[in-house]
Amino acid sequence: MANLDGIRNIGIIAHIDAGKTTTTERILYYTGKTHRLGEVDDGEATMDWMDQEQERGITITAAATTCYWRDHQINIIDTPGHVDFTAEVERSLRVLDGAVVIFSAVEGVEPQSETVWHQADRYRVPRFAYVNKLDRIGADFHGVLEEMKAKLGTIPLPLQLPVGSESELQGVVDLVEMREICWDQNDQGNTLLYSPIDAARVEEARKWRENLLDHLSHISDKLTELYLAGAEIPSAALRSAIRQGTLANKFTPVLCGASLRNMGVQPVLDGVVDFLPSPADLPPARGHHLKKNEDVEVPCTSEAFALGLVFKLQVNREAGNLCYVRMYSGKLKEGQTVYNISKKKRERINRLLRMHANHSQQLDQVGAGDIAAIIGLKTSQTGDTLGVEAFPILLEKMHFPEPVISVAIEPKTLSERKKLGEALETLALEDPTFSVKENEETGELIISGMGELHLDVLVTRIFREFKVEARVGKPQVSYRETIGAEVTHVEKYHRMIAGKEHSATITIQVKPQPRGQGNSFTNATERGALPDELAAAVERGVTAAFGSGVVYGYPALDISVSLLDAEYHQTTSTPIAFEAAGAMGFDAACRKANPILLEPIMAVDVLTPSEFLGEVISNLNARQGVIVNVESKPGADHVKAQAPLVAMFGFSTVLRSATQGRATFTMEFSHFAEKVGGFGG
Ligand code: GDP
Repeated sequence: MANLDGIRNIGIIAHIDAGKTTTTERILYYTGKTHRLGEVDDGEATMDWMDQEQERGITITAAATTCYWRDHQINIIDTPGHVDFTAEVERSLRVLDGAVVIFSAVEGVEPQSETVWHQADRYRVPRFAYVNKLDRIGADFHGVLEEMKAKLGTIPLPLQLPVGSESELQGVVDLVEMREICWDQNDQGNTLLYSPIDAARVEEARKWRENLLDHLSHISDKLTELYLAGAEIPSAALRSAIRQGTLANKFTPVLCGASLRNMGVQPVLDGVVDFLPSPADLPPARGHHLKKNEDVEVPCTSEAFALGLVFKLQVNREAGNLCYVRMYSGKLKEGQTVYNISKKKRERINRLLRMHANHSQQLDQVGAGDIAAIIGLKTSQTGDTLGVEAFPILLEKMHFPEPVISVAIEPKTLSERKKLGEALETLALEDPTFSVKENEETGELIISGMGELHLDVLVTRIFREFKVEARVGKPQVSYRETIGAEVTHVEKYHRMIAGKEHSATITIQVKPQPRGQGNSFTNATERGALPDELAAAVERGVTAAFGSGVVYGYPALDISVSLLDAEYHQTTSTPIAFEAAGAMGFDAACRKANPILLEPIMAVDVLTPSEFLGEVISNLNARQGVIVNVESKPGADHVKAQAPLVAMFGFSTVLRSATQGRATFTMEFSHFAEKVGGFGG
């Protein structure tokens, strides 16, 4: 097991097309784990496992890949580049300790990078920047620095300067060691060639070195002393001060290069080792002790009870499901039983794997601070805490938005139905924000997710990966139904079925509950009034009816049901009758209880250049959007609003044309609210 100081759990964050895949490829190549360079353009990238990702050029799954650099173990946690997958971004930010943020030297700080940057701020993820594509026409290193200041509100601290630019790019000036670095193009940039700084560049290099020392002197007193005394400052002292400042988010170190030209990648790896935190540098994880019912801190040490968080589940039919776990304390061993604290279930770890770019390695154990994939878990899912029964700590829950958009999906032939069912089951297991339901009346399968693109990606996977032929309907809002009044109702059921009499009489009461309370059923009959078996039948009927709503067939929300009284006869009162009475009684009572249609209200977050602010606000107003807050940042405004989902369909297209593609938005479920006027309004 690597010691804690030697581990880095990092993410590589980038706007689509900034060069994340190319850079990751080079990282895996230089660290010696892949045997040849797979160019993204050839569709051979190692990290992008799914075909679809390669086609779309976006990364949507978070897996973890391990490589080694200078005796350090680097676990690269894949982060999606597309903001529509906020849940995926947040989930990876939750388990990574540091990040490399890639910007394109041509496109600069793009709006979506701003969104992710601010998410990373929220999780206090220490990071440095890598300005890629210096070889491209229009590359502007200093322009990117200015944008980082203006748009991200950070202090960019260049540790390198480009040597030459665009097609004349030769390498970089290293401001820490004060030398130039070139990459030998005869061996795909494997060999770094060092030389003194060219006379033509000495003056500029000195100026930026001064800038570096100036910022670092605020960090370390020792460095200030040396600086003021005019003494030679050892580069190790500089690196240590850069590390301190990075961990404290005082500034953002900036490196540069052109990954496609095999320039600049090894210093990024050095940066990961030198500037990003090890698990030991982080504050202890926080969790909730279920027995003591209090919040506790969990120090990161392998010499304690095991505690880990499942951050990704990948279904694999041949090998068995891979559960990626980030360990926060203790260790897990192959063959042992582990306790799923979230689900209160014991599970067995059949195998432990470390995933590399092109192979997996079997492990005996995985310790605190490290990441591994577990095979053999049956019930564990993304977001679950794993540990031992004696130490029942629930790690801070990951937050997943409610699925609020649905589409109907129908197999093209009857024989495809089973395959479709299996595909949907797999996807739902992997993705906690995706759900499947069968419409009882029509037998149609309805899938629900967080947004249009989310469902689109999943449907494409059903076609391609699972090779199911299916027809897909138009996206629909997934509404809920509730009631506005308290009603007591008597339901009498009496029917002849196959020559046998079935009868039941029940009195039930339905009551609206505060939002978020959920549905409930209570048996409030006097003891002995009804045999348990029949009471359970009523409960089954009522609970099943929750799923099909009141008037429109959407799931019921926040309704409490009490069974107040019941009449039964020895001979004719059957469970069938009581179950039916429960379902029908619930429906009838709710219909009299002022039924209300609830619609999902979304929290909409728009980041727009200031000149388009008016345009953005009027567009939101036109969609029944309520502006909650406008925050002005240098050059950009951040608008927070709430709007009904139904009014937000197609908003991305409208926003793009209204702002010349320069604004971005994220949208996430906020709450359910009464749909004024029902479907008529
Ligand atoms: P990702 O979407 O962030 O993963 O970006 P990719 O790594 O897929 O790169 C997007 C495109 O930019 C591809 O066509 C790459 O070949 C190209 N690219 C990546 N890095 C560089 C670079 O340093 N210079 C140039 N000229 N092109 C690059």
